[in-house]
Amino acid sequence: MDDDHLDVRGTIFAGDGLVSEKCRVLLNGLGEFGAIVVDAETDRILDINTTALALLGMKREEIVGREHHQFVSPAEQGRSSAVHAGKAPEPPEWVLRCSDGKSIPVLKSVLQIEVDGRKALLESIVDISARKKAEEDLRRSAFHDSLTGLANRALFMDRLDRCITRVKRNKKFLFSVLLLGLDRFKFLNESLGHEVGEQTLVVVADRVQKTLRGIDTVAIQTDITHTLARMGEDKFTILLEGIHSNEDSVRVAQRIQLLFDQPLEVNGQEIFTSVSVGIATHNGKSTSAEAMLRDADIALHRARKQGRGSYVVFDEVMHAQAVERMTLEFDLRRAVEQGQFSLVFQPIVSLTNDRIVGFETLVRWQHPKRGTILPQAFIPVAEEMGLIVPIGLFVLREACRQMKLWQDQFPSDPPLSVAVNLSSLQIRQPDLAKQVKNILKETGLTPGSLHLEITESALLENDRHTVSTLKKLKKQGVKLHLDDFGTGYSSLSYLHQFPIDVLKVDRVFVKKLDKDSGKSGLVGSIMAMAHNRGIGVIAEGIETLSQLECLKEMECELGQGFYLARPKKAKAIGRLLSRQRA
Ligand code: C2E
Ligand code: MG
Ligand code: MG
Repeated sequence: MDDDHLDVRGTIFAGDGLVSEKCRVLLNGLGEFGAIVVDAETDRILDINTTALALLGMKREEIVGREHHQFVSPAEQGRSSAVHAGKAPEPPEWVLRCSDGKSIPVLKSVLQIEVDGRKALLESIVDISARKKAEEDLRRSAFHDSLTGLANRALFMDRLDRCITRVKRNKKFLFSVLLLGLDRFKFLNESLGHEVGEQTLVVVADRVQKTLRGIDTVAIQTDITHTLARMGEDKFTILLEGIHSNEDSVRVAQRIQLLFDQPLEVNGQEIFTSVSVGIATHNGKSTSAEAMLRDADIALHRARKQGRGSYVVFDEVMHAQAVERMTLEFDLRRAVEQGQFSLVFQPIVSLTNDRIVGFETLVRWQHPKRGTILPQAFIPVAEEMGLIVPIGLFVLREACRQMKLWQDQFPSDPPLSVAVNLSSLQIRQPDLAKQVKNILKETGLTPGSLHLEITESALLENDRHTVSTLKKLKKQGVKLHLDDFGTGYSSLSYLHQFPIDVLKVDRVFVKKLDKDSGKSGLVGSIMAMAHNRGIGVIAEGIETLSQLECLKEMECELGQGFYLARPKKAKAIGRLLSRQRA
């Protein structure tokens, strides 16, 4: 007897078309395996064990004697008969049709046997629906957000991609992306905890989903379809397909925002929140899903600036600004690579003897097409891109090198000093103090001649690390100036935490000097407070003679401004210093 030809002749065939009790015992002994014996010629079922019966949800007498193919799912029937006719290789997975019409995936193996001289097939089957479900869950999780059950970013981008492809074939097809940002989510998370934060997202997802269903069916157009997805922490997106104009998207945004007029009920507590919405409707130009999402993001950014619970539709102006910004980023990167930066120096003058005591270094970008660009037009972008770090190092090195040359050429007591502006990102660099030390060593400038200018906001936005960096710099002998004093918090109360040497009073204060009442005015009070703490004062932005006279009267020691001298290139400064010496 070979393995796949089981001879059960005579022993189990009962002669009435059914297999004997013995055979049934054998079949039921297969335990978790379902077993069906089929007559190979007639395809009729000769017997079935209890496991297979339970699987099919039927009684034995409902099955035995019937044709086997009736229990195979219709989609599988072609395959089934081919296999039984010996024409196809046996596939390992099969789908059974149950009494209630449900399909059950099974693993099946077939053994040819002989029952009382007749060829029969012994099918053993194992229910694999649990495994299949787990596989399906896994597949779904690749495209669904585990918290809310909504589509995830990958699925959303795929649908959006399809819309972009479709619009190429059908120019009339219109669709839009709504990017929803839950306002103050970070605050909510921090104040009420992550669990409440997560539950809030679930409730929001549910509310938005229900509203969208309502919109689809009755409120606006029946032919608009939607996909709602969760994109990131507190962001959701809606893809609206088949809209007729932007108005449809705006109406959807308004409806969704209305939902948040009422508090959300999360874990038994009421949560007041709102959503801001950025809308990007396909304009015939967007060529990629990413570009459309970016447009919606720009619009959302605007909406959030307008205040909570607003919506903004992305338009041509924003598009132009986005293009401008991208161009600037591209050019700035190249500028750093090609070294398109130069320095100008603005004299800092002693108000007691009108002599130049030092300079503030100001960076300029020599753009190959646009000419000279002032720092305010590119420093904020350079900060966001992290490019301020290499730019800042260039400025620092170049300023120290130039000052050393001037000190050698124009010696004085005390020696001339140079001030360099530092951005907050530079201060956050862990090795700033070391880099400054290296540059001083490399250029031969004494630390006391280098003054680093830091703004109030940079001090306040930084952490303990800032204090330690500043202390290190101070220990090296470098002087620290607090720049633009008066534009930020304008409070001296926190100054004791930072080792500041000089306060630069911003020109907004200096401007008011004409009408101010001298020492008893604002500038006077700031000076008095600074001096009390042993901190020096430089008045910035002196533009008129009367401002200068006022400051002199108040015994302000140092001044800087267009009235005294404009920022100049090194060569012109050299001439200025030669005249001063003469
Ligand atoms: P800041 O450090 O307060 O520099 C003074 C700014 O005021 C300079 O503008 C200067 O040209 C201008 N200014 C000087 N005197 C007068 C005056 O009498 N009236 C008026 N209206 N303005 C005056 P600039 O060069 O455009 O620089 C602007 C800002 O850009 C600087 O303000 C500084 O915060 C930043 N900056 C400049 N260079 C650098 C740099 O190398 N690194 C960093 N991180 N920031 C820099
Ligand atoms: Mg400055
Ligand atoms: Mg300033």
